[in-house]
Amino acid sequence: MWKKILKIRDKAVSFCGGLNNLLLLIQSCSENSRIQISALYNALSPNSSVVPWHRTVWETTNFPSHSFICWLAIQDRLLTIDRLIKRGLMNSNNCCLCTGSENRNHLFFECCYSREVWLKIMDWLSFKWQSCDWNQIVIWYCDRLKGNGFKQRIKMMALTTAVYSIWRERNFRIFRQKARPADQLFRDIKFNIYSFVLNGSFKAEDREWIISL
Ligand SMILES: [Zn+2]
Repeated sequence: MWKKILKIRDKAVSFCGGLNNLLLLIQSCSENSRIQISALYNALSPNSSVVPWHRTVWETTNFPSHSFICWLAIQDRLLTIDRLIKRGLMNSNNCCLCTGSENRNHLFFECCYSREVWLKIMDWLSFKWQSCDWNQIVIWYCDRLKGNGFKQRIKMMALTTAVYSIWRERNFRIFRQKARPADQLFRDIKFNIYSFVLNGSFKAEDREWIISL
């Protein structure tokens, strides 16, 4: 039994893209400090029914840790301040990126900080439309971003990387008192995607496209 538990642990860590992510998932499936086994089972079950955003989040070119944070965000499971207040763990809501109140839709991307980052990404990748409304963005990614082309995959990577990087920036500000301006965060995201493409085995025309932007 012990062997099996260790095997499942390793599987769960790899599914979540790291131990910290697994701990975050377990936390997100807890109510009043008690783990909800059914919620955890559903979250880890590979047989769960396919949702419309499955490919946007889990596209194979996405960084696994970015997919995971985006997966929690899309289900509104990240422990944002509004959720901590509902659990009685905090009593005031101040976004650490601006002067508003923190919740999922505020962080992605209504907040003036994250709005600046996301609009710069949309500009950089030549999106033909612009929106900072989470629901509109998810619907567009699910319904309109079809096909397996390089540009589509990079746009999925851009969303998951943006969500991950903004969540990380928020945590750095809260737990490490370190802050980066929006422009620097955007440049870091761009650098991440650039280096992934330039170091990967992509066609010359795909590399040229991203360099030309
Ligand atoms: Zn904010």
